[in-house]
Amino acid sequence: MGLEDIQARTARAESEAGRTAGAVTLIAVSKVQPLDRVESVLEAGHRVFGENRVQEAQGKWPEFRERFDGVQLHLIGPLQTNKARAAMESFDAIHTLDRPKLAGTLARLAQETGHCPPLFIQVNTGEEPQKAGVLPSEADGFIKDARALDLPVTGLMCIPPVDEEPSLHFALLAKIAERNGLEGLSMGMSSDFEQAIAQGATHVRVGSAIFGARDYG
Ligand SMILES: *Cc1c(COP(=O)(O)O)cnc(C)c1O
Repeated sequence: MGLEDIQARTARAESEAGRTAGAVTLIAVSKVQPLDRVESVLEAGHRVFGENRVQEAQGKWPEFRERFDGVQLHLIGPLQTNKARAAMESFDAIHTLDRPKLAGTLARLAQETGHCPPLFIQVNTGEEPQKAGVLPSEADGFIKDARALDLPVTGLMCIPPVDEEPSLHFALLAKIAERNGLEGLSMGMSSDFEQAIAQGATHVRVGSAIFGARDYG
């Protein structure tokens, strides 16, 4: 199935890039996918999944978590502040910290509950007006501010523009992470995860190449 192929390609890309085997976490992006496809990936032993909507995740993951041990759920879609509390409860990592207001809300909730999942800051590397994320020029300041709020920032995330060479964006993200002492790099999707691994990705987010095309109908 798709999973085995993508696992094998991930391992090969790690090795070709001189990375340690297992250095890259494969996040199987299960948004919108029929439950039976998600279940077969769970049954094959995979445990790390990505969802882009809090509500959708809350609908399907509690039951899977009961049936399968060790599930790790990553939020990879935009987060509204009024869903922040639910996201902190439902997800094991949040990849989309993208604005000061959300940082403030997460920090307040973290203080209140004593818990906050690891956070990736989304950087709008292509400076696309319709896309979420802090601009590259604002990233250093934003990372500093998030750290000053005691938020557990572990890395950066990007979604390159569809019509541009993704490697340039991956390289930019890696450079910003390095100069800020951040280890985590969430980058690479079905069409470009091997390039992302070559540029240092620690987390790749692969959906359709594992599960098949999403049917939004
Ligand atoms: C849907 C989605 C993915 C997975 O996309 P595929 O092309 O299906 O691999 C990765 N990252 C984000 C942020 C997404 O929304």
